[in-house]
Amino acid sequence: MKKIDIIVPCYNEGEVVNLFYCAAKNVTDKITDYEIHYIFIDDGSTDNTLNKLLILSAADDNVDYISFSRNFGKEAAMYAGLQNSTGDMAVIMDADLQHPPELIPQMIEGIEEGYDCTAACRATRDGDSKLRVALTNRFYKLVNKISEVDMPNGAGEFRMMNRKMINAVLAMSEVQRFSKGIFSWVGFKTKWIAFDDVERAAGETKWNFWKLFLYAVDGITAFSTAPLRLASVLGSIISASAFIYLIYIILKTIIVGKDFPGYASVVTLILFIGGIIILTCGILGEYIAKIYMEVKRRPIYLVGNTSLNSSNEDNKDEG
Ligand code: UDP
Ligand code: MG
Repeated sequence: MKKIDIIVPCYNEGEVVNLFYCAAKNVTDKITDYEIHYIFIDDGSTDNTLNKLLILSAADDNVDYISFSRNFGKEAAMYAGLQNSTGDMAVIMDADLQHPPELIPQMIEGIEEGYDCTAACRATRDGDSKLRVALTNRFYKLVNKISEVDMPNGAGEFRMMNRKMINAVLAMSEVQRFSKGIFSWVGFKTKWIAFDDVERAAGETKWNFWKLFLYAVDGITAFSTAPLRLASVLGSIISASAFIYLIYIILKTIIVGKDFPGYASVVTLILFIGGIIILTCGILGEYIAKIYMEVKRRPIYLVGNTSLNSSNEDNKDEG
């Protein structure tokens, strides 16, 4: 019988993890042609998430957990889940029931039809604030314009992948991961399923404005080098304008003679050019920081404890 791993990153999800398990189990119990195995990843939660996972895994043989030594972020949690998945297929889903388990049978159908991946795409964003929706839309427009990958707006990490695609995703072992881009970069045939967004069942979102902003910067720098070209473009425009202005001043001096006013324009120009220099240095810094973190090749996550057997534990901190 083929096996499906359900990978669930959990960070302080003590309030919802049981709700999730019951809702998902309701759906997966009806799936009889596949063996279903749950892998919960406790991403360094500070609440009772781990306790709840211990109880679940003790009660159900098909539930395993991996508990990180600290909070490494959802990207690391998803990577750990995929790395420890042994199934023919794997689904990644949030613990807060914003990813309806009812879609799992449709996802299986997609894979059976011959697709490598069945991905859920949010048709609406009712579960998010208006500001977040507006900024998210802007981000997707920008990133799709300047990057080498196509990231559909609303496409998240909620998807089922076959072994071929899982291995491809794992082969991209970059430390600073941006899965939305990775899934699209690896290619493969993807079937899209639209679903309506819902508010999380309980608990709170782990994202605030600043975290989302940094995540957006990560997404752009991970899959596009266009911002680096901004320095050359701005530099050329400013030099060309300066040259034209120089000729104008020379001609003016020859024809009309010398005059001294110009304090305001000089100050404005210095500030303008200074601003651009700092901005482009900042962009360079952003990429250099990425290179710095990447060359250290630190593990993507570290396991505190896990219910998975030792053969899986061998590669637990390989990332
Ligand atoms: N999550 C995680 N580590 C983190 C932050 C979030 O594993 O550092 C998990 C979280 O428990 C949830 C999923 O990632 O299962 C999505 O998080 P959240 O619901 O906060 O994000 P949103 O739905 O608001 O985008
Ligand atoms: Mg959520």
